[in-house]
Amino acid sequence: MSAPAKTSAPLAVLGGSPAFASDLHVGKPNLGDRRRLLARVNDIIDRRWFTNNGPCVQELERRIAELLGVKHCIAMCNATVALEIVTRAVGMGAEVIVPSFTFVATAHALQWQEITPVFCDVDPRTHTIDPAQIERLITPRTTGIIGVHLWGKGCDVEAIGEIARKHRLKVIYDAAHAFGCTHRGQMIGSFGDAEVFSFHATKFFNTAEGGCVTTNDTRIATKISLMRNFGFAGYDNVIHLGTNGKMDEFSAAVGLTNLESLEEFMAANRRNYERYAAGLAGVPGLRLYDFDPRERFNFQYVVVEVEPAGAGLTRDELVDVLHTEHVLARKYFFPGCHRMEPYRSYFPHAGLLLPQTDRLTQRVMVLPTGTAVDEEMIDRICGVVRAAIERSGEVREALELRRVQSATG
Ligand SMILES: *Cc1c(COP(=O)(O)O)cnc(C)c1O
Repeated sequence: MSAPAKTSAPLAVLGGSPAFASDLHVGKPNLGDRRRLLARVNDIIDRRWFTNNGPCVQELERRIAELLGVKHCIAMCNATVALEIVTRAVGMGAEVIVPSFTFVATAHALQWQEITPVFCDVDPRTHTIDPAQIERLITPRTTGIIGVHLWGKGCDVEAIGEIARKHRLKVIYDAAHAFGCTHRGQMIGSFGDAEVFSFHATKFFNTAEGGCVTTNDTRIATKISLMRNFGFAGYDNVIHLGTNGKMDEFSAAVGLTNLESLEEFMAANRRNYERYAAGLAGVPGLRLYDFDPRERFNFQYVVVEVEPAGAGLTRDELVDVLHTEHVLARKYFFPGCHRMEPYRSYFPHAGLLLPQTDRLTQRVMVLPTGTAVDEEMIDRICGVVRAAIERSGEVREALELRRVQSATG
């Protein structure tokens, strides 16, 4: 492997041509062996069994439970519906403590059921919910905590478990980012009362749309299985309130195929992450989110914090520069759930307790990775970032000029 080129790029914002001819997205879906997938799809068509706990869904559930070392895996249509179902299944209501620095679905899943999300700040280093902040948010109405294993980094499950035991709270983890990752050497999937994974197309492991719940609690698993299918316990026998959270066979076929290439996806992401680390090393004002080498990670998110005083550019300016190069870097999770509707109207002062969240939502950007991105592309991206920061004064002026021009037509 060649060393990353340390040359600076000409920069489109200063009149050069863009580093990429077409848009480079942060998450192009990972896909395993196309022929294996088509063979599975052919089988599904022959069987004419498209949904309702078909053989592909059952096999996927078995394989995931085995891989994660958890007793039960219940496949779902997506992680948002899975979160809605699980919160009900474990008996959450009234108020639930949840980070604001997450994808909005974590909060929406609660609010959708008229459960109040009480936003908690995150640890500035790990970006996960800060256990030291949880206890001060507990009220007589608090029923549970939802932690988010952001970027695949496990929450402080030990401290959270301790608080939950003390206050008799339920704990769910939103593990949407954390498929295949470990926490203290243990696969994520067995923590709390239940964990929820997303298999959306942009996630490390995808089924196009999909997700699952994992738990070691057989009572919860049984309840979730019923709730996922309208409460049916058999033909004509509804024994529980339910909704439709089922995964279909075609999605499961994508999942089974992608499971076979998991190690490949992980290796590509890891190689990309290391290339970024080399390419961005020593650039002032940047901090690449780092992963504990003792754990297993999927490296699906290349997360960079931009410190404007050091970089000479804000995160927003750097993202604008990258967009002019057709590198569609993203501001995850901007502006934070508490600054989105309906939460900002419900809780206009929530930000007072969320200084780290407000800081991170202004500083974090996520760069493209995945099997569709190679080292040469990463060198080009790093070249753009380095050049922009080296020439931050000129870049700032050029961006300002563009803003004025676009405002005046
Ligand atoms: C993607 C994501 C979700 C939602 O997953 P869907 O399967 O799209 O419903 C929830 N939480 C987090 C943290 C996510 O990143």
